[in-house]
Amino acid sequence: MKKCTLCVDRIYDETLEESERKPACVLACPTSARLFGDIHDPDSEVSEAIREEGGYQLLPEWGSNPANHYLPRRKQSITIHQDELQRSDNPLKRESGHPQGPVKEQTLDDVMSW
Ligand code: SF4
Repeated sequence: MKKCTLCVDRIYDETLEESERKPACVLACPTSARLFGDIHDPDSEVSEAIREEGGYQLLPEWGSNPANHYLPRRKQSITIHQDELQRSDNPLKRESGHPQGPVKEQTLDDVMSW
């Protein structure tokens, strides 16, 4: 196993298009969960994200001033309608009550001699 190289070979590969000079994991992530850019450029995508979404470093008390920043969870609000609260596959609804105690039927272990 190797440590992350931040795909330095891709970042400085001038044969790649400028838009392709990003870590492979950043390019591959289907939900764009990772951003890559210059945090010293106040107009970069990452600087904007840190500034506007409250990006933070881990363990700032160590004083290492890491470039990696993390964004807090996004606050989302969803509306759940009353009819969505009962799932058709809800076992509590199907069994019409709370789960029963231990099963008293014979199990395979009861009838087999392994
Ligand atoms: S793909 Fe991502 S995790 Fe893997 S080496 Fe590149 S930057 Fe690091």
